[in-house]
Amino acid sequence: MNIDKYPYMDTTGMAATYPPPPPYMQPHETVVVTSVPTVVVRYNCTDTPTITVCPACRQNITTRIERSPGLMTWLLCGGLALVGCIAGCCLIPFCVGSCQDVDHYCPNCNHHIYKYKRM
Ligand SMILES: [Zn+2]
Repeated sequence: MNIDKYPYMDTTGMAATYPPPPPYMQPHETVVVTSVPTVVVRYNCTDTPTITVCPACRQNITTRIERSPGLMTWLLCGGLALVGCIAGCCLIPFCVGSCQDVDHYCPNCNHHIYKYKRM
């Protein structure tokens, strides 16, 4: 009568002999397997260098940024000119980085990844 040494077998029957598998094991492996072929390229819309994956060379890179005048720059310039800042002050938006669009480039292959537009 060795069965008396295993009380979980003779109290509730066969159902008790199958302990539930650890619920965290299988989802963990599934996440690892599915995340490998899926290359998540997420572009954060910021005006600062961003860590991302270059779509051209598939490298993890920190983007190199270049600022250029955009629509918001010209609107601010026009707005300043309208309020009387025509003595060079209307050119201030062209000198302020936070008023300009930002181009993000890959530092490895110089691929243009995306453009951050203020407007
Ligand atoms: Zn690249």
